[in-house]
Amino acid sequence: MNYNIISTGSQGNAVVVDEIILIDCGISFKALKDVYKKLQIVLLTHIHADHFKRSTIKRLAKERPALRFGCCEWLANELVEAGVSWRNIDVFEIGKVYDYEVFKVSPVKLYHNVPNCGYRLFTNGEKGIYATDTGHLQGITAKDYDLYMIEANYTDEDLQERINAKLEAGEYSYELNVASRHLSHEQASEWLMDNMGEKSEYVFLHAHKDKSR
Ligand SMILES: [Zn+2]
Ligand SMILES: [Zn+2]
Repeated sequence: MNYNIISTGSQGNAVVVDEIILIDCGISFKALKDVYKKLQIVLLTHIHADHFKRSTIKRLAKERPALRFGCCEWLANELVEAGVSWRNIDVFEIGKVYDYEVFKVSPVKLYHNVPNCGYRLFTNGEKGIYATDTGHLQGITAKDYDLYMIEANYTDEDLQERINAKLEAGEYSYELNVASRHLSHEQASEWLMDNMGEKSEYVFLHAHKDKSR
């Protein structure tokens, strides 16, 4: 299973798997210019703008009239409002497996401040999982997958430092909410150790980047 990270993190998310599956669409259409022609499906996760950019979704639907869009129920109307025809939208249920012949997809429930999901992908006998923007991965297992694309947003130490600095400066610290909405490096590593096999590959996504550094 190969992956192409077009962008990851709060500035925008988009990852292409095996050239045909786009997960998240929080970037400009221009950033997709080299990849959009081969896509067969766009999998959306949640409504935050770094994952769901309406103008890009609209343009993709226009340029590629047969392109499919997959999401859970909380994004179906949003896709229609963005300009995608109902005929092109597949609305998934958490835990079910959807067979597209060349690949299969199954959404997993994640834990964020808005409804969110990740995706298990099955292609050419290989297994992959994509999960970002989640407070934890409890109850999710993916033993011996070929590819793990997992959020490692912050380290505990770094987050604590950022919180302390803001509080000392008398500023509001949005970081106080980060731990309940995002996965730490430590959580991601621990979960990977429980799940990875000898041949598994992983990549960390959605790392926090401080603009001041
Ligand atoms: Zn995000
Ligand atoms: Zn988010």
